[in-house]
Amino acid sequence: MPKIGILAIQGDVREHGLMLSAIGQQWEEVRLPSQLYDLDGLIIPGGESTTIVQMIDTYDLRIPLQSLATNGLAVWGTCAGMIVVAKKLSDRKPVPLGLIDIEVSRNAFGRQIDSFETTVTITGIDGPPVHAVFIRAPQVINVGPNVDVLATLGNEDPVVIRENKILATSFHPELTHDTRMHELFVRIAGS
Ligand code: GLN
Repeated sequence: MPKIGILAIQGDVREHGLMLSAIGQQWEEVRLPSQLYDLDGLIIPGGESTTIVQMIDTYDLRIPLQSLATNGLAVWGTCAGMIVVAKKLSDRKPVPLGLIDIEVSRNAFGRQIDSFETTVTITGIDGPPVHAVFIRAPQVINVGPNVDVLATLGNEDPVVIRENKILATSFHPELTHDTRMHELFVRIAGS
């Protein structure tokens, strides 16, 4: 079984943990650099990206996270977590980790419609479309050449993105009872 951690600074930590437990996957809360080194995968939850990035820097997690991700640590950012792992933001703050070659605009959907729910079809996930909950979600405005778009919203906005072992979703799979995105991440982390 791959070793999975959840960055337990702020946000949907418990909800991600419940999803992993539901599929029989063990997990641990991660707050310190020393807790990163034996992980196969790390989830960065939704919440508030400025707070999460501020604490990443306060706890000196930035450099180890960047170097471990370059060396094969799987990382999955959901919503605020997507902002944290992005290469570039169209906003001034925060300074993201740059783990996946996407440019993101914070709260871009939020200005039009604060939150909404819909279904998305995701490459690599069998069965019916996945129920997706968007809450002040980031919008992906550019993707690099090596990035795979696994799902879009209405054939347009990318909402599930993967580059090697880095995964990002602009919605919150941890707020549903559908464990298929978590199963996909565990498979990526164990590969
Ligand atoms: N808009 C939030 C941010 O910029 C993210 C919202 C969320 O994670 N639901 O961090």
